[in-house]
Amino acid sequence: MYRCSLCGRDDTALLEAKHRTMGTVLVCPECWSKLYEANEIVSGSGGGCACG
Ligand SMILES: [Zn+2]
Repeated sequence: MYRCSLCGRDDTALLEAKHRTMGTVLVCPECWSKLYEANEIVSGSGGGCACG
């Protein structure tokens, strides 16, 4: 069973997030929004344009 990398929760669906310093982590929706609001999630890969 997977658990949230931040709070250790394992009773909910986990989301994959690309953390700025921790790399790819699995976190619960609550922690995901916290990270997102704190700008700790890297969107896309390489931080560049995903076009092409
Ligand atoms: Zn969590």
